[in-house]
Formats: sequence, structure tokens, C-alpha cells
Amino acid sequence: MNAQHNIVLIGPPGSGKGTQAARVCERYAVPWISTGEILRAAVKARSPLGEQVHETLASGSLVDDALMIELVRGRLAEADAKTGFVLDGFPRTIHQAVALDELMTGHCLMASLLSVPEAELERRLGARRICSTCKALYSTGTRYGSEEELCSKCGGTLIRRDDDNIDVIRTRLQTYRKAADPLVAHYRALGKLTVVDGTLPSDTVTRAMLSAVEQAYGLIAAKK
Ligand code: AMP
Repeated sequence: MNAQHNIVLIGPPGSGKGTQAARVCERYAVPWISTGEILRAAVKARSPLGEQVHETLASGSLVDDALMIELVRGRLAEADAKTGFVLDGFPRTIHQAVALDELMTGHCLMASLLSVPEAELERRLGARRICSTCKALYSTGTRYGSEEELCSKCGGTLIRRDDDNIDVIRTRLQTYRKAADPLVAHYRALGKLTVVDGTLPSDTVTRAMLSAVEQAYGLIAAKK
């Protein structure tokens, strides 16, 4: 690992985190490291790790800290993470955050929070539709509307996914907040947090995020 662009990305479901992560990774030529993706791939491949975590993933609870820390330690030691990384989904607990701080001793690390008010997240997640036939994704302007809409690609009926109903959305946001609030406080206390307004148009968010990274790394470099 070197001191290039080591970024922890924090953002609720519906904040556009995936899109922004991809753009930041492209800009700095660093890997996107999503612990959720790594675990899901392991479950799919039925690897020993997958066998170990599949029940936890299915239940929606958190995988053991020690296992996650070892997983991330190994992943960050890989060659492609030498110039930096965008970590997504890790840390999830203060214990993990402290372990990451220790792992990054002597290296720069910044946390970027994609901030979107909860009412807007509910609107965005509630507006998501999927084509029941070809599975194309849509965002309708409607909020929890029940009017029938059709897929422009295949004419199939657009439906809301089971986990995009308002009760499930609120539970997911609450779970996120419970995990994220202490992490945000942790990075803020360390002076490592930058907050980006996730309600702005996607390209503006990217520019704001990249400029926050440049600024953070400029300041960190200047401090050295
Ligand atoms: P995600 O895609 O980030 O929502 O992660 C999917 C699932 O993987 C979570 O519900 C957890 O079961 C597990 N997981 C991912 N990252 C972590 C982590 N840092 N600590 C504990 N469990 C995790």
C-alpha cells in the first residue's frame, strides 16, 4: 500500500454510491473494494468463505468483525491496491474502523460521506421499478404510486421489487444509519471526513467528490 488515494466511501442505499464509486475508481485507477460483493461472490462460488458466511448474509446481519478484518487486510495487500482503493461497505463497525486505521498507519486515508436527506432517499427508492419481463431498471417520478407503467424496451409491466416497499426501505435506512452514524463521528473526530451533497446532479456530485479528495490529499500532503 502507498499513500495515494485510499478512500472509504460512506452512503445510504439510494445515494448513488455505486455510480460515484465507479467514477472515483476510474479517475484514480484504483480498485473498488466492496465487501458485500466479495462475500456474495464467495457464497455463489461455494468457497470455504462462502460456506462460512452464507447464513449470515441470508439473515441480513453482520459478519463477524475478525473475519471481515482479515478479509480486508488480505484484499488491501493485493497488487492492485498499491496505488489506493475505494472501500465500500467496510468499515461497518467502530472495531473495523479502528482496525483499518491501524492497518493504514503511515498511509493516508480519507472518508467521503455521500449525504442525502432521508425523505429524498425514500422518494428515490420508492420510485424504483423493474420490468417484470426483461428486468430493465427504471425510476418513475411517482412516489409509491400504483398506476401501471410499461417497459419501453419490451412492453412488460413495471413492478416494484419486494425490498423497495416503504416499510422495507425504512428498515434498510434505519439499519444504515445505526451503522453509519458512529463511523461518520469517528472519521470526523480524526479530521478525515469530507461530506458531499448527494442531492446534486450526478456529474456535479462526482466533481464535488473528486475535488474533496484532491483537497483532502493536498492538505494531508501539505501537513507532512
Ligand atoms: P452490502 O452489499 O455492503 O450491503 O453487504 C451485504 C452483506 O454482506 C451485509 O448485509 C453483511 O451481511 C455482509 N457484510 C458486508 N460488509 C460487511 C462488513 N464490513 N461487516 C460485516 N458484514 C458485512
